[in-house]
Amino acid sequence: MKYYSTNRQTPETSLENAIVKGLASDRGLFMPEKINHFPKEFFDTIDRLSFHEIACKVAEAFFGEDIPKQDLDNIVCDTLSFDCPVVEVKPDIYSLELFHGPTLAFKDVGARFMARMLQYFIRQNGAGKEVNVLVATSGDTGSAVANGFLGVNGIHVYVLYPKGKVSPIQECQFTTLGRNITAIEVDGVFDDCQRLVKSAFMDNGLCEKMTLTSANSINVARFLPQSFYYFNAYARLKAIGKADKLVVCVPSGNFGNITAGLFAHRMGLPIKRFIAANNANDIFYNYLQCGVYTPKASIQTIANAMDVGDPSNFARIIDLYGGSHEKITSLISGTTYSDKLISETMRECFEQTGYTLDPHGACGYRALKEGLQPGETGLFLETAHPAKFKDTVESAIGSEVTIPAPLAAFMDGTKQSVPMSSDFSDFRAYLMSI
Ligand SMILES: *Cc1c(COP(=O)(O)O)cnc(C)c1O
Repeated sequence: MKYYSTNRQTPETSLENAIVKGLASDRGLFMPEKINHFPKEFFDTIDRLSFHEIACKVAEAFFGEDIPKQDLDNIVCDTLSFDCPVVEVKPDIYSLELFHGPTLAFKDVGARFMARMLQYFIRQNGAGKEVNVLVATSGDTGSAVANGFLGVNGIHVYVLYPKGKVSPIQECQFTTLGRNITAIEVDGVFDDCQRLVKSAFMDNGLCEKMTLTSANSINVARFLPQSFYYFNAYARLKAIGKADKLVVCVPSGNFGNITAGLFAHRMGLPIKRFIAANNANDIFYNYLQCGVYTPKASIQTIANAMDVGDPSNFARIIDLYGGSHEKITSLISGTTYSDKLISETMRECFEQTGYTLDPHGACGYRALKEGLQPGETGLFLETAHPAKFKDTVESAIGSEVTIPAPLAAFMDGTKQSVPMSSDFSDFRAYLMSI
């Protein structure tokens, strides 16, 4: 299948190229040229299929033209080495728990899938040439990408992070891994890390010496597989007679996760409507109200993985609905919550139901609690484990949050990192010396 750019100023390209390049050369985002539709019968019996069976069928709809079925099935099953269960929080409100992967957040799904897709293409080309993934992180992306690519042959990952500016829990998730993961501790801020990565991609000498790629969340291999769990959640709810009039609420930052849900809907998944739940970063919310998109500087909140002032996947949503504000607002509504409301929601939910939300999931839960109409069933995406935001959650609910064993195991590891100045010449010399 061919992939086009949302800016349409560059020729269509192959799946492999779209994955390796990440961003189109006209700075648009890649979109598949067609989105296959499933027949009604598929949904009539979907509750008899397992998560793996469903995910393999969805993957085939996207990637079946490019990757033989057996290889694709292996990539899917290897990616989904953990479940994404649907859990009842209170009558008619369900949590889709996406935090059972290695770094306890939903980004594990996309990162693991992308690593295996890249590996497939490297093997296919038989060149044996190592691919180097450069990723700048302010915390969460680095851990998902590092763990997603851990132990994948033929790929080396360099995680650049700002010294002293990520939490100890986050830092240990990418500095203790070793093997094909190198953590680079930059004496600077996140923007310096991003600048070093961007400069490396633009440096011809470096690009001739080594194959460089990014594992940004806009990559088609990271965002499309996120549709798997929407189909599976529908199947699990259908099995208990709760799939009619389904409202799906997605805590959103860059809007990749919700866009994957919109793709699932376009493929025929019977979701009645979506809610995009935001923290104080209300750019999309404002767009829904007035039809004008005005990016802003991001605001820091306690749901910090959603602190985005110019959501990159907005371009994909616009493309999907031909720019029609009317079509978009008839399917998607929005909410925006202050830190105070997010904290209150975590406390209320814990007191009333015993369920511990993380600050991101709390936005989703609250939107459903406020916005669900009679007869509707609500499903919110619980995008991270509350222990990843231990202090914030504990002070909100007034009770201790236990750290799950996999997270605790990271904290027992030995930190290894390469110190780096924020000068590009130093980073360049380091890469050239490898
Ligand atoms: C990345 C992230 C989000 C936002 O997801 P988008 O796809 O960028 O909208 C929400 N919650 C958590 C915990 C995240 O890590």
